[in-house]
Amino acid sequence: MQHFDIDKVRKDFPILAETVYGKPLVYLDNGATTQKPQAVIDALVTYYSSYNSNVHRGVHFLSQKATDAEEAARRGVQQFINAAKEEEIIFTKGTTDSINLVAFSFAKRYIQPGDEIIISEMEHHSNIVPWQMACEERGAVLKVWRMDENGTLPLAELDNLLSEKTKILAVTWVSNTLGTVNPIAEIVAKAHAANVPVMVDAAQAIQHVPVDVQALDIDFLVFSGHKIYGPTGIGILYGKSAWLSDMPPYQGGGSMIKTVSFDGTTYADLPFRFEAGTPNVSGAIGLHAALQYVQAIGLDKIAAYEHELLQYAEAQLLTVPGLRFIGTAPEKSATHSFLIGNLHPFDVGELLDKQGIAVRTGHHCCQPIMDKFGIPGTVRASFSFYNTKAEVDALVAGLHKAVAMLS
Ligand code: PMP
Repeated sequence: MQHFDIDKVRKDFPILAETVYGKPLVYLDNGATTQKPQAVIDALVTYYSSYNSNVHRGVHFLSQKATDAEEAARRGVQQFINAAKEEEIIFTKGTTDSINLVAFSFAKRYIQPGDEIIISEMEHHSNIVPWQMACEERGAVLKVWRMDENGTLPLAELDNLLSEKTKILAVTWVSNTLGTVNPIAEIVAKAHAANVPVMVDAAQAIQHVPVDVQALDIDFLVFSGHKIYGPTGIGILYGKSAWLSDMPPYQGGGSMIKTVSFDGTTYADLPFRFEAGTPNVSGAIGLHAALQYVQAIGLDKIAAYEHELLQYAEAQLLTVPGLRFIGTAPEKSATHSFLIGNLHPFDVGELLDKQGIAVRTGHHCCQPIMDKFGIPGTVRASFSFYNTKAEVDALVAGLHKAVAMLS
């Protein structure tokens, strides 16, 4: 596993040296949020200690410097996902905020009573509820693309769902619960053949898979800064300018206007028409630092390392008596969800916690997945490129201990 210098990488993340209950922290909850490298922490400290200012408003030095840094961050994101134009990058609060924006504005512009929206059965609640709300608002119908027992979405099934009534398909790239990597290129091709645009939830893909929105011809792509080693409270909506410039604003306020009078208001051009109010300037700057950090290591190397780690973890986890995986798709990324015999996931998670091992337990904001498998929740270990085989061994030893104590 000589993809990069793992010891050096781990030193870049100060929190990884922390102890929990006197034990070394083993952080395997990266699906929920990732830890931050010193470069990101430094970028935030530098911003607040030397050029904090509001953006796009002032003529003064600091305001210009902050504006330049925010707009450099936008170009950094553009380059990271290979968007054609920088105005196709909208700063939001996160994945959830981005999806709500698309669901609201796209539905308002394009969806009529009786139209259909397709989502998949493995979506995070944030890619379900906004579409349910849009359907309620517009009198549209939500269609669900069901998955197989192993947690894959059958492509043939999509053909049955797509129709002339379908207005948009919203689907996750990587499942936060099952780890399934969906074949986005094929999905987009099928949808486009039916004249249906695709919104891709990349919350669990952006940090694990190289993304090229032009090569994949993705219409909308959303992700959160905090899942790719950046700060919380910042996220991205990428949208093809042909769509975004035709959609009505999501929120009104300062910065998103051209002119305002009591007779009426005209809206700003992209990207600002979707960025009402003072933006999360520090968040954008921190996200930029995170993307630069990831690029310096290389997403190809990260993906290869994480793949090996995931395979190693799979083999080791299977040594735990009674362990069964929830989500056994052939293509998986960074996540193993599992149950052990009749043990409640919460009890397993608590015993791991006492050993310094952070995993997540519960429904992972995917209750329909739990319904599908008839389970209350899972234990989820989600990995990053800063995790090691030794940490996988610690998890497995911790599980053996938990089984001995709880059985
Ligand atoms: N979609 C997926 C697949 C996710 O994993 C998450 C976060 N768990 C979200 C959406 C929502 O992201 P956020 O809470 O950062 O808005």
